Amino acid sequence: MKNDVLRLFFALGCPPELAEGIATWRSSLHLPGRPVATANLHLTLAFLGQQPRARVAQMQDLASEVRATAFDLHLDRLGRQRNGLLYLAPSHTPEALLELVEQLYSNLSSAAIQLDSRPFRAHLSLLRHCPTQAIDANPSFDWPVSRFSLFASEQNARGSHYRQLHTWPLLRDEQEGSFTAE
Ligand code: ATP
Ligand code: MG
Repeated sequence: MKNDVLRLFFALGCPPELAEGIATWRSSLHLPGRPVATANLHLTLAFLGQQPRARVAQMQDLASEVRATAFDLHLDRLGRQRNGLLYLAPSHTPEALLELVEQLYSNLSSAAIQLDSRPFRAHLSLLRHCPTQAIDANPSFDWPVSRFSLFASEQNARGSHYRQLHTWPLLRDEQEGSFTAE
């Protein structure tokens, strides 16, 4: 990849302790496939694709304008796409998560940044190329989400590595009032 271009995405980076817990549970399932590296576990909010490095500052400005509240995410559903991607998802997507994604999309589109037209589906990728269809598991992971980040996806000898470029705090309920009261 050329140095002046970065593969960018906004995501919730999985906190290390939770990521360890998820990885341990995943190993206990003994499933075939290629596990996503524990350090890479994340939930994508908006994928920006290849962008000129010079635009990173603009992305940061757009993200700084987001006013969304912190929320609790309960990952309790195991799903598998037809391409064999196994993922964890919430059976109920919190309103605050949808609001965060909507604000990001809206700010990015107003800057003419092309985004995926498929609807947002909250998911955390666990394992690729998993051939097993019926999996007997009842996951239950609680994730208190208090920040979101901009990542650059890079390739190294071990595959993809996500470099966190910047992170923004989400508002606590009591902070929200001071923004909406203006
Ligand atoms: P690899 O492609 O090396 O297997 P990866 O898919 O995790 O690893 P990227 O392709 O850089 O790495 O993707 C980073 C994040 O963006 C992942 O969450 C991925 O699912 C998501 N993503 C990638 N391509 C798209 C796309 N076209 N639309 C929406 N999200 C995407
Ligand atoms: Mg990919």
